[in-house]
Parts: sequence; structure tokens; C-alpha cells
Amino acid sequence: MSENEYDGIPRNKIHWAPKIDYEKCVSCGKCVEFCHMQTFDFEEKNGKKKTVVKDQNACVVFCRGCEDICPAGAITHPSEEETRRSIEKLQEAALT
Ligand code: SF4
Ligand code: SF4
Repeated sequence: MSENEYDGIPRNKIHWAPKIDYEKCVSCGKCVEFCHMQTFDFEEKNGKKKTVVKDQNACVVFCRGCEDICPAGAITHPSEEETRRSIEKLQEAALT
């Protein structure tokens, strides 16, 4: 389930979600099992199972849990600093 807001900002305006590098991903499904927010899911294409980011906004802002458990090092997130800055800008804009 997605959170609707983070620090007063609509969640869908915040750039924070996992990204899968398919050059590295071995489709083990560990991230699908691990993330209790159901950010990931499987997709089936031509009989092949592929792990995908199903709901970007479900990802908890600043969580990096799945990065640590991915055995292939295939998951990355945006820069924390940049995301923090963009949240601050959105908060400032909301006040004006
Ligand atoms: S845990 Fe890593 S390797 Fe396994 S399906 Fe997820 S992204 Fe791919
Ligand atoms: S960072 Fe955390 S909330 Fe986001 S997808 Fe990974 S485990 Fe789920």
C-alpha cells in the first residue's frame, strides 16, 4: 500500500524508488518477498519470470532495505541528498 504523503508532500512528487539493473538481476525474487510494501512484483513474458518495480510510490522514502538483501547488487536508489533537497524545495514552494 502506498503512503499518500511524506512530510506534507504528495508521495508521487518525491523521487525515491528502487531501480533494478537487469544486467545484474538474476530473478531470484528475494526483493519481492522482502519488501512488505509490495513495491516489487513478478511479470511473466514469453514464459520467463521477470522481477519488476510495480509501485514506485509504495517504497518507503529513504528505505534501502532491498539494496542490502539483493544477492546480485542489482538494486539502487536515488541520492539521498538530492531527494532531501528536492523535498525541501517542494516544502518551500508549498509555503509561498
Ligand atoms: S533480489 Fe535482486 S537479483 Fe533478486 S529479483 Fe530482486 S533485483 Fe533481482
Ligand atoms: S527500499 Fe524498502 S520500502 Fe523501498 S522497495 Fe526496498 S524494501 Fe521496499
